[in-house]
Amino acid sequence: MNVYISSDMEGTAGVCAWEQCDARKPHPEYALYRTWMNREIRAAIDGAREGGAKGITVNDSHGPMRNIDFDEQPADIRVISGNRKPFSMAQGAEGGFDGAFFTGYHGAIGDANATLAHTYSPGVIYDVAINGTTCSEATLNAAYLGWFGVPLLLVTGDRTTVEGVQAQMPWVIGAVVKESIGYYATDSISPDAAQDLIRAAARTAIENASTAKPFTFKAPITMDITLARVEQADLIELIPGFTRTESRQVRLTRDDYPTILRAFIAAFRMGALTL
Ligand SMILES: [Zn+2]
Repeated sequence: MNVYISSDMEGTAGVCAWEQCDARKPHPEYALYRTWMNREIRAAIDGAREGGAKGITVNDSHGPMRNIDFDEQPADIRVISGNRKPFSMAQGAEGGFDGAFFTGYHGAIGDANATLAHTYSPGVIYDVAINGTTCSEATLNAAYLGWFGVPLLLVTGDRTTVEGVQAQMPWVIGAVVKESIGYYATDSISPDAAQDLIRAAARTAIENASTAKPFTFKAPITMDITLARVEQADLIELIPGFTRTESRQVRLTRDDYPTILRAFIAAFRMGALTL
């Protein structure tokens, strides 16, 4: 069994501030929290292997996507790193996997009690809905995996994130490492306890994999993106296929989800040009 792991950072135990996960202008706390992020990934890998998984690919999915510390990981995994990957947090998911884990994930923009909640680009995306349902990063990325028949098996993060995923994908095993107290505070278990919890949950997720289903959206797939600012909609409207539905909203309809996700990524990167 081959497992794909998309690893974000905001949902790591203890994280409650941007500085702790800012890899671009590293605050002294980043090095510490990066280690704990990596140890949570290692715990997920170890648990997966205890459950019978073999091949592991980790897609570094946070910030500039250069957070993986190879010294903290087993030698026999593959790691996808670096920014501007065409499919970003879901890059490489089409590569023949039997199941997926999302570690260190966080809530969607607009979620209450979700520390550091955002959807890809907090300065650009005010909301993204597909077929009328607001999507988190977990939803968007799970649907890309689902297009290739790969089910999401495990999510780790705060309670809001885990329960949000399970509301859409009830088969997903969750590891709740913290309770969010608004946007900038958490009530967390310790990193050591989080690693133990994730390791056990990962093992269970692999053992229960036969009950999981690929998550998909029914075609035609309509994506409505609400931007933070009107000038972002002005730019994104120029991408062929998008129509302007409101002053700050654009819409795209397609039958194939990879095109939808690719368009979403193009849209938020274009919107970021106005920041
Ligand atoms: Zn992140």
